Amino acid sequence: MNVNQVVVVGAGLAGVRTVEVLRGRGHTGRITLIGQERHRPYDRPPLSKAVLKGEADTSFVDTDLDALGVDFLPGVGAKSLRAGVVETTEGEIAYDGLVIATGADPIRLPGDGLQHVLRTLDDAHELRAVLVPGARVTIIGAGWIGAEVATAARRAGCAVTVVESAPTPLATAVGTEIGARTRHWYDGIDLRLNTMVDSVDEGGVRLVGGEFVESHVVVTGIGVRPAVEWLAGADIDLHNGVVTDEHLRTSLPGVVAVGDCAAWWSRRWGTRLRVEHWDTALNAPEVAAASLLGEEAVYDPVPYFWSEQFGHMMQYTGHHPAGERLIYRGDPEGKWSAVWLTADDVVAAVLAVDRPRDYVQGRRIIASGGRLDAERLVDPEVPLRDCVV
Ligand code: FAD
Repeated sequence: MNVNQVVVVGAGLAGVRTVEVLRGRGHTGRITLIGQERHRPYDRPPLSKAVLKGEADTSFVDTDLDALGVDFLPGVGAKSLRAGVVETTEGEIAYDGLVIATGADPIRLPGDGLQHVLRTLDDAHELRAVLVPGARVTIIGAGWIGAEVATAARRAGCAVTVVESAPTPLATAVGTEIGARTRHWYDGIDLRLNTMVDSVDEGGVRLVGGEFVESHVVVTGIGVRPAVEWLAGADIDLHNGVVTDEHLRTSLPGVVAVGDCAAWWSRRWGTRLRVEHWDTALNAPEVAAASLLGEEAVYDPVPYFWSEQFGHMMQYTGHHPAGERLIYRGDPEGKWSAVWLTADDVVAAVLAVDRPRDYVQGRRIIASGGRLDAERLVDPEVPLRDCVV
């Protein structure tokens, strides 16, 4: 396919990486990068870590858009799409290759009270300014973002309440059995489990049942939705994000999707995956750019993400449908890992808590389709790679 004018919508990590790879692969045509934020591209993981703790102010991606010869349009939003044309807040832009990299938007709760979310650099600065000693901070959701914000708020000396509808933290992400193991990390935090929020009102949070949790600061961390509203009227398949094949091609010719907004077909797992994590935004652009340029490339990673919470490094790799067997190794009060095994002992996923070697070796074993000896696995002194049968 002869691509000359490429438009990239979304100037997050996935968008800017795709630009870099396009140039790296020799694309010399025009590239326009549209980003509705006014900042140049930045990484989001530090927002809930170093930026919120005050250890850093920014997390800009180390890239030189001028040197890459990119027309970067910050503060410009894409409003709609029809074949060959993106309509933006600043007029129409024609393309013959389009990259959809619009990421995801945080979900908010009903109510007129001020609720912080944490998605953008501006969100992080606003939140950091109110995490002051003694502030009564209510965090809704004990998922990845909720746990990391709770970590920062407790460290800042706030009086922290975390409200979670599930019976444990991290239940949606890794299940209640694993989530229960993180329960004791919430020491000093009022963790309300099995508790639903009705609305965020002035001065606090109204729970289902009527109780009012008075709060100076409310943070809603209940998940995100793929940012695809602007594609509503377009002739493109949408289902839990932008539907793509294993090459990250969408149903519209000349259009690829990548990052948090893309739901791609995985050969490895035999299902469609949409992974809202940094590693995908970093690496999937290799395939998105190649596919846009008409080359053959397949995106089929062993997914990976990490979270830093309450002094622990959690690293998850793989993909585990419900029902697989869980084997633990290590000390539940200290450093431990969990391994999900299929019925025939193939490794589906590994979660390592302060055991980075288990993560590294686990990811390699998953990639090679390896099987493990479940009896040896329970001994934390035996490296994972030595459990392969
Ligand atoms: P985004 O980074 O969301 O970028 C998309 C960009 O597109 C945004 O700038 C958005 O404004 C723009 N956009 C949206 N719609 C339009 C439009 N219509 N027109 C123009 N522009 C538009 N992952 C991990 O693996 N580990 C972590 O520890 C971790 N921590 C995180 C902490 C926080 C606070 C957040 C928010 C995310 C974290 N993640 C983490 C997830 C990771 O940052 C994301 O997976 C990654 O940012 C996705 O990149 P993206 O480029 O696909 O989307």
